[in-house]
Amino acid sequence: MHADGRYDARVSSPPPPPTPPEAPAGPTDPVVARERLAGIRGVLLDLDGVMVLRGEPIGEAPAAMGRLQSSGLPYRIVTNTSLVSRETLSTRLAGLGIRVPPHDIVSALSATAAYTREVFGGQPIYLLSSPDGRREFAGQWLVSHAEADAPGAIAAAVVVGDSPEELTYGNMNRAFRFLRDGAQLVAMHRNAWWLTAAGPTLDAGAYVVGLEYAAGTEATVVGKPTREFFVRALDDLGIGPLGDVLMVGDDLRFDVGSAMALGLRAALVLTGRHGLDDVAAAARGEPPAVGVPIVPTVVAPSLADVVETLLGA
Ligand SMILES: [Mg+2]
Repeated sequence: MHADGRYDARVSSPPPPPTPPEAPAGPTDPVVARERLAGIRGVLLDLDGVMVLRGEPIGEAPAAMGRLQSSGLPYRIVTNTSLVSRETLSTRLAGLGIRVPPHDIVSALSATAAYTREVFGGQPIYLLSSPDGRREFAGQWLVSHAEADAPGAIAAAVVVGDSPEELTYGNMNRAFRFLRDGAQLVAMHRNAWWLTAAGPTLDAGAYVVGLEYAAGTEATVVGKPTREFFVRALDDLGIGPLGDVLMVGDDLRFDVGSAMALGLRAALVLTGRHGLDDVAAAARGEPPAVGVPIVPTVVAPSLADVVETLLGA
């Protein structure tokens, strides 16, 4: 934990976050979980697999979220969603009984828009994002597909998010040509797939990897699991030291491992992507971990259990 609450590279050799030595065989005992989550003063919450799955709310998650909000504990939703704007996401969540204002959400899409505003402000950007997602980029210089086809067209960056309408061969080819001419490749995330009502569904990661391969370049990734994404959300949350912040997620690597590497505590919930077999494998450094063992601070059946641990029954 960082005693001074900072989370930049100048903090020298921070001690590793406290982790239990062995992977739990099941959800963490509630008494032990309360001890391990004592003193939490802010919460980051993943969305997919924690509150919603396949477009439906998960069990008691809406009520648990309402309880967390009523408690006054500061929180932010941190999600790799890049399909729709925070405003639309907020409206859709309200339809599922989860009331989260847009400004309490940090998405891969909104973080990417903030990133390109900072890094490429005033320069042309070729953006592959859904029409709704483009709202997050209001005020930025976006090159249209027609402009991309004009002789001598240039772009400082090619930005790729999830969009069934925009990730076409024609647009990928336009993106490829800009990259060949020196544009930088920016990926909202590299997610391979996600669960929708129709089942496992291809995400934007495959397109990012395809462009990297074809253009011989490497994308700058903005969303989870990058350190920068969490730093952006933590800046917004404004809570320190980092050991007082809890990340709640369903993905051992993207949520738990990346948050704990920064010094946060992390709760894995078993309502989404990863189950107890994955917990055991990750504790050995095997996939979904990549070499370095990942052991969550607590393993909980659901978000409702995490909220009960934080706030009492
Ligand atoms: Mg998730």
